[in-house]
Amino acid sequence: MEIEIEKQAGFCFGVTSAIKLSENCLKEFGELYCLGELVHNSMEINRLEQLGLKIIDVNDLQNLHNCRVMIRAHGEPPSTYALAKRNNIEIFDATCPIVLKLQKDVKKAYEQCAMNDGQIVIFGKKGHAEVIGLEGQTDNTAIVISKQEEIDKIDFSKAVYLFSQTTKNKEEFEELVQVIGKRMKENNNEKFFPVNSICKRMASRTTTLLSFADSVDALLFVSGRHSSNGNYLFDFCKQHKKETYFITEKGDIDVEELKQYNRIGISGATSTPMWLMQEIRDYVLEKIKNI
Ligand code: SF4
Repeated sequence: MEIEIEKQAGFCFGVTSAIKLSENCLKEFGELYCLGELVHNSMEINRLEQLGLKIIDVNDLQNLHNCRVMIRAHGEPPSTYALAKRNNIEIFDATCPIVLKLQKDVKKAYEQCAMNDGQIVIFGKKGHAEVIGLEGQTDNTAIVISKQEEIDKIDFSKAVYLFSQTTKNKEEFEELVQVIGKRMKENNNEKFFPVNSICKRMASRTTTLLSFADSVDALLFVSGRHSSNGNYLFDFCKQHKKETYFITEKGDIDVEELKQYNRIGISGATSTPMWLMQEIRDYVLEKIKNI
């Protein structure tokens, strides 16, 4: 049996630099709070917690003073920075540069909205950390829609500035642009400004994953259960290749079932550490050898 790990799998650069920053801080200070899960992978979180990382939420932040807090790649709204300042908290900011640019673009468009009575629309998941950060740029006035069925929240007689959460699906976003554009035309309104703000790494991920899946007999897709990117990529791949298995750790693997395949591929979400995929590869090879 051959097992190959997909070359494009593993952390994106935004997550890689957030983890590096946390490791450096932990080495220097021994303890660091992180606002939300640094990465949606419990195995990686366990590893960082053993080094001294403490995961907190925004309610915990209210009660913390004179300490160090890390902001993860998803970014935070301006209110978080203001609260940190009030509580004399030192911020270690790992907001991904791509998210940071999107926050700035949304803020700029929001300022334009004030002049032409426009609306900011965000295609994303309500309650997702990145979306909360984006809503914060608009004094929480942005309209968040997660699917086409929700477009009636938009007033088509006014200007519309449409952005996307960086991890959304490109095809769905393009369809949404068509549907909103059609409604704007019906209202004789030309003030529609869509911005494709999907991360390029995410946009190309589905293509690379499917071509890798085609090159193997079965695919072990490694991801945390709470990773929206992981769940999305897994469902997408499973529809294309039924021999795709969702794995969070070694214990999920049914080695007996895998025996039927000659070539197995291992891939994962943008939050899946390479060391975990390597561990899973070594585990399967060892088990197969002993059967
Ligand atoms: S997926 Fe893209 S936008 Fe999100 S953290 Fe990674 S590199 Fe940044």
